[in-house]
Amino acid sequence: MRIGFIGLGNMGSGMAANLLAAGHEVTAYNRSPDKVAALVERGATPAATVAAACDADIVVSMLADDAAVEAVTFGGSDSPGILASLRPGATHVSSSTVSVALAGRLTDAHTEAGQGFVSAPVFGRPEAAAAAKLFVVAAGATDKLGPLQPVFDAIGQRTFVVSEEPKVANLVKLSGNFLIGSVIESLGEAMALVGKAGVDKQSYLEILTSTLFEAPVYKTYGGLLARDEFEPAGFAAHLGLKDVRLVLAAGELLEVPLPIASLLRDRFLTLLAGGGADLDWAAVGALAAWEAGGPHPSPQKGGGSSP
Ligand code: NAP
Repeated sequence: MRIGFIGLGNMGSGMAANLLAAGHEVTAYNRSPDKVAALVERGATPAATVAAACDADIVVSMLADDAAVEAVTFGGSDSPGILASLRPGATHVSSSTVSVALAGRLTDAHTEAGQGFVSAPVFGRPEAAAAAKLFVVAAGATDKLGPLQPVFDAIGQRTFVVSEEPKVANLVKLSGNFLIGSVIESLGEAMALVGKAGVDKQSYLEILTSTLFEAPVYKTYGGLLARDEFEPAGFAAHLGLKDVRLVLAAGELLEVPLPIASLLRDRFLTLLAGGGADLDWAAVGALAAWEAGGPHPSPQKGGGSSP
């Protein structure tokens, strides 16, 4: 399949490489052009503009946030976006974690332009993206989703089709990230408790993950917390805050109170205020130990004292 790929960050670079490895023809665009070179070495065609990446059957976008997806899709007066560049009948596959509201707007705009729009956000960190082990949560019109299965198979280990309405996939993805954030916070609190009493955090994690808490989320984030390993960020804290904000916005839209999400928003603000925006979002779990008299997770605080 001829695929345009836009956004070669931590996630997109691995996803695009796996599309190439599966035999697809990939034309790649990234805002900072230096990131395209590594993919060109693997056989991709470089695109100097968003429009150049849109001469394809489908365009996959994997961008930071709503603002990035809006800029790339709607474009500007001197830089046509995906909407103006994609031929009728072709499909925009949006894999970024964006708001439910934006997914709705993108669906309407692409439909009006005679193009397809599919939301296909993913679960899994950059290592999973590089290993083609993502979980894809997909939603969109059945006739648009069907031909995309080889694409999802190339980047992930399993695809879940959740609705014909693209924005439902975004809601499911956001709810999952809310749960991950909640696990990070509660694990951080539990580790601060036992850690202050002198229990080795790695041994403690071993107990959790070999008994009732065997899930990957406890293993991955428990490991990062036990090792205080927050750099380089696989998923940056400022993007974590973005997702909590989007969860709260979805809750507001549907009139569903999410008290734990409100708490998480403040935890992320505390981390960012201490200089932790670019740390892995696991660092939010280290705030509990800091408040208990331990070091701050941000190097900007120089391993500083409690608040
Ligand atoms: P990232 O490494 O920060 O990459 C972000 C990408 O967006 C880069 O290609 C960046 O271009 C581009 N970008 C940002 N603002 C832009 C703008 N205004 N116009 C054009 N391009 C712009 O982020 P990531 O970790 O790959 O995450 C990408 C998406 O996947 C996010 O929505 C994230 O929530 C989601 N996600 C992440 C993970 C994870 O563990 N990392 C897991 C699942 C889902 P430059 O290179 O020029 O900055």
